[in-house]
Amino acid sequence: MNAPAAIRIEEVRKTFSTGGAEVVALDGIDLEVAAGEFVCLLGPSGCGKSTLLNAVAGFSPPTSGRIRVAGQPVAGPGPDRAMVFQEYALFPWMTVAENVAFGLEVKGSPAPEIRATVDTWLEKLGLSDFRDRFPKDLSGGMRQRVAIARVLAIDPPVLLMDEPFGALDALTRRNLQEELLRIWSGSGKTVLFVTHGIEEAIFLADRVVVMTYRPGAVKEIVPVTLSRPRDPHSADFSTLERRVAALVMAEQARQERDERVGVGRGA
Ligand code: ADP
Ligand code: MG
Repeated sequence: MNAPAAIRIEEVRKTFSTGGAEVVALDGIDLEVAAGEFVCLLGPSGCGKSTLLNAVAGFSPPTSGRIRVAGQPVAGPGPDRAMVFQEYALFPWMTVAENVAFGLEVKGSPAPEIRATVDTWLEKLGLSDFRDRFPKDLSGGMRQRVAIARVLAIDPPVLLMDEPFGALDALTRRNLQEELLRIWSGSGKTVLFVTHGIEEAIFLADRVVVMTYRPGAVKEIVPVTLSRPRDPHSADFSTLERRVAALVMAEQARQERDERVGVGRGA
C-alpha cells in the first residue's frame, strides 16, 4: 500500500449560521497534499481559506466531510500540526528565547535539549542577538521570525500557515519567503500555506490551489514546476502569474457582483 497522504481532505463542507442566515464557507473540498509538498491556497478574501486551514488544524471541525493527517482522522489540534498566523501569536511577557522554548517546555523535553533546540532555531532564523528581547521591542518581520522559530522548534511534520507574511513590507516578506523555503527544502515537512498574493503563491508552492468564492471550493490546481530559487521577473514566472491572475480575478469579479446584489447576506 502507498504511504498515506500528509493531508487528505474529502468532501469537506462548512457552514456558519449568523443572524438566521446560513453562510456556506466551504463546499465539496477535495484535496490531497503529499508528504514533503508545499501547497498554497490562493483566493480572494472571504473564500474560506482560513476556515479550511482551521479545520485541518483541528480548531474548528467541518460540518461534514473528512480530514486525515498522515492517515489519522483529525479530531482536534495535535502535535503533528502547527499553525503560524498572520498576527504573530507571541507571549508578550516572555523573551524571544522563552517564546521559542515554550512548546518544548509544554512537551516536557529535558532542559539541556530545550536549550540546544532553542539555540538552533534562533540561529537559523537570525534571532540569536535578540534572544533576550521582548516581542514589543521587535519589528513585525522579527516577530514573525520568532513565531516561525517557535513552531519549528516543536518539529511538526505539517506546517499550517495563514497569511503569515501578509502584514510585512515587500522586502521583509521576500526575505522570510526565502528563509522559509531554505528551511523547508530537504526537511520533508509538508506546508499548507494560505495567501491572497498571486506572486507569493507562485514563488513558494509546488502547487497552487485556486479557490472559488461562496461557496469556497477548489476552482483549479496549478502545478508550479519552475526550478528554485524562482525569479519573479522571468518570462516563465510571468506567464504563470498571468494565468493564475485570470483565475483569481474571475472569482473576485463574481464576488463583487454578488456583493452588489446582496447574495449571501440574507438580502
Ligand atoms: P478567507 O480566509 O479566505 O478570507 P474565511 O475562511 O475567513 O475566508 O471566511 C470564509 C467565509 O466564512 C466568509 O464569508 C466569512 O464571513 C465566513 N465566516 C468565517 N468564519 C466565520 C464565523 N466564525 N462565523 C460566521 N461566518 C464566518
Ligand atoms: Mg483568512
